[in-house]
Amino acid sequence: MNFILRRLLSGGRAVYPAGTPSVHYSSVAPEIRERTLIAVKPDGVQRRLVGEIIKRFERRGFKLVGIKMLQASEGILAKHYHDLQTKPFYPSLLRYMASGPVVAMVWEGHNVVRSSRLMVGDTDSSQAKPGTVRGDLSVHISRNIIHASDSVEVAEKEIGLWFHRAELTNWETNDHSDLYQV
Ligand code: UDP
Ligand code: MG
Repeated sequence: MNFILRRLLSGGRAVYPAGTPSVHYSSVAPEIRERTLIAVKPDGVQRRLVGEIIKRFERRGFKLVGIKMLQASEGILAKHYHDLQTKPFYPSLLRYMASGPVVAMVWEGHNVVRSSRLMVGDTDSSQAKPGTVRGDLSVHISRNIIHASDSVEVAEKEIGLWFHRAELTNWETNDHSDLYQV
């Protein structure tokens, strides 16, 4: 296994063969720091799907660095869906997104923006492939239970819109091998 792959599998921590003198890095490789905004929409929260969605991202190997439940204001939703404001479904979309609390999350990992879009599936749930969040858990485009940023640039903007910097945690992977004696 090459160095980068081993580092990815270890959550960004450098992994060395036994006996190698330990080397400490102050940060992980830049590509591992990619982040995206994932939100469980009000129908997903109402249907108790928050845990199911978190489980999928954790199992894939992504790292949760921010999470909160909130009732989204019209202001935040208008900014979030600014590009869709001329669409005929826009008023219903805003009503749907304000119909109950959402769970907003920031996930980090290698290629997380692209991978999470694939995990989420087609916007239209009836076209979403089995195995995807929408393809497994929803049937209609207007109640598609999850949001995922669609590019790295958009992800940065959306994370800035939904989260304050202090709400995001830069935690490092720890294998808890440094056992304490009791
Ligand atoms: N949407 C809708 N009808 C449409 C297209 C979109 O209700 O014909 C809603 C749907 O909730 C979708 C959201 O608007 O998730 C944002 O649309 P976008 O095209 O950005 O899809 P997404 O990025 O969520 O897959
Ligand atoms: Mg979108």
